Amino acid sequence: MPCGARGPRGTTLWRMARCEVCGNDYGMSFEVHAQGAVHVFDCFSCAIHRMAPICEHCRVQIIGQGVEADGKWYCGAHCARAEGKAGIVDRV
Ligand SMILES: [Zn+2]
Ligand SMILES: [Zn+2]
Repeated sequence: MPCGARGPRGTTLWRMARCEVCGNDYGMSFEVHAQGAVHVFDCFSCAIHRMAPICEHCRVQIIGQGVEADGKWYCGAHCARAEGKAGIVDRV
């Protein structure tokens, strides 16, 4: 696992960040800044798992464009309407 990333003694440049989804402390982790918080992930699938909103109606994970109504997320206008959110139109 150590891949030669150890710096000279005393350096603090290297920061091991642990993926908050799977706990992997793989050195190539990256940060996502969202809504004032910083999230650390080792891969995009973990980031999607953590960050993707869930449709309030069908509970599917919304990857890409969703629809927001009253602070809740839906995968599409049909689900928003099914929850009684009138006037929601899919953004194409
Ligand atoms: Zn991960
Ligand atoms: Zn849905």
